[in-house]
Amino acid sequence: YFVENQSIQNEIVTITGDDVKHIAKVMRMNEGDKIICCNESAQAAICEIEEITNAHITARIVEWVKESSELPVKVTIVQGLPKGDKLDYVMQKGTELGAVAFQPFSAKRSVVKWDAAKVSKKTARLQKIVKEAAEQSHRSIVPKVMDVISLKELLLLSESYDYKLVAYEEEAKAGEVKKLAQVLQNMKQGETVLAVFGPEGGLSEEEVDQLTKNGFTSCSLGPRILRAETAPLYLLSAVSYQTEL
Ligand code: SAM
Repeated sequence: YFVENQSIQNEIVTITGDDVKHIAKVMRMNEGDKIICCNESAQAAICEIEEITNAHITARIVEWVKESSELPVKVTIVQGLPKGDKLDYVMQKGTELGAVAFQPFSAKRSVVKWDAAKVSKKTARLQKIVKEAAEQSHRSIVPKVMDVISLKELLLLSESYDYKLVAYEEEAKAGEVKKLAQVLQNMKQGETVLAVFGPEGGLSEEEVDQLTKNGFTSCSLGPRILRAETAPLYLLSAVSYQTEL
């Protein structure tokens, strides 16, 4: 469970909100049972539940966990808005695989458009999916879900990243295309990666052009065309394989 730093005092963690119901009613936990809590600095601790009320749960820290479950490199997934519930899937599975943030992107070929009035509601729902996925896969942090952005905003955002990648399947049109393995082998602990993926109809040639002109490396994920929701999960798996195992 993820708690704010001010909820930890004198080795006692106080949990409030939806997690109380989840721990007491869904997980059916009782006083004496153990849970793992993480603070805002991604430090995890094994905690023993001391008290359960309707409003809060208190738990005593038994032991701080030394190992981190985080990927050595910090990957942000930029996903061209796909149809239906595919974004839910990308964020849930992407959290299991170690992404640190998700950036929805209004791509030229995105059929779906987010209504400005509903963006914060959509983001909050996705953030809840991500939090639950982070808890189940014992992440040390909850990945951040950001508001949808345009290509122009994406170029601005990209300025602060160590690696900027765009997954593009049309090698013949992309100028210099690197194999993912080539790119991954140089990554070092703590570096940041921004990886862009298209929606079902893919990225347009102009979008890829703009991205590569602004320092993005065009990357192939192999000779097979992956579904919009598969491509970011492939990248995260490859990053884990290359940097962790
Ligand atoms: N039409 C399918 C669908 O409905 O999901 C395929 C979509 S594919 C064009 C969506 C995105 O996945 C692309 O824009 C690209 O970012 C990424 N992608 C898929 N296969 C890829 C590959 N072999 N190499 C690089 N990127 C790939």
